[in-house]
Amino acid sequence: MEENLIICEENYFSQENEMKYCGSSQIKSFMDCEAKTLAKIKGEYKEENTTALLVGSYVDAAVSQTLDIFKAKHPEILKKDGSLKSEYVKADYILNRIEKDELFMKYISGDHQTIMLGEINSVPIKIKIDSYFPNKCIVDLKCVKSFESIWNDKTKMKENFVDYWKYTLQGALYQEIVRQNTGKKLPFFIAAVTKETEPDLALLAIPDEELEKQLLIIHEILPHIRNLKEGLILPKRCEKCDYCKMTKKLDCIIDYRDL
Ligand SMILES: [Zn+2]
Repeated sequence: MEENLIICEENYFSQENEMKYCGSSQIKSFMDCEAKTLAKIKGEYKEENTTALLVGSYVDAAVSQTLDIFKAKHPEILKKDGSLKSEYVKADYILNRIEKDELFMKYISGDHQTIMLGEINSVPIKIKIDSYFPNKCIVDLKCVKSFESIWNDKTKMKENFVDYWKYTLQGALYQEIVRQNTGKKLPFFIAAVTKETEPDLALLAIPDEELEKQLLIIHEILPHIRNLKEGLILPKRCEKCDYCKMTKKLDCIIDYRDL
């Protein structure tokens, strides 16, 4: 038994914990591109933090009162005098907007960044809940581009942003691990805010029937992910992401109409 490792905010995404546990970002990432995700876990590849991504993380950190840790980790968002660089000022605008809405604030005022561990299909799972209300509900804060539907090139149709970003899968994972830890199946909500010039707000309920469907998908994919992490099978490349472009090796000539 080597249960001496304490999982906390600072090491939640450490290489060691990413190898040992599966979290929702990792599962979603494996579904996008197995090769990229495995390279990330092994520390062979690091994804670029885009401005848009950091704005979202900044809002997350501010709401969960972990802004100090966030600023220490991302000095690139600050000017020399400690104030925010212009491209991140929007994050403060979003925060001000959120604070004006009583109901939104109520839903994101649970226990922040609650970490729980569990197991699905013999695979160790970790979750980190943005706003947890014990015995009541699970809330995740999402800072998205807009609420408009998004074109999915895989399914060849426009999808609700919640489906597109697999937030339903995340909710299913949270609901199941909370159930394992507390014996209670709690409703899952998304508190969503957009990064538009004038941010839009919504509190979204994800029906249990949708979460149950997603839990089945999680059950199905986890053994495959474990095999990938243990090196028993070779990861598939998506040939679309930056990692696949970076590691692409030409070995033939193709008809231009097949591009
Ligand atoms: Zn890829």
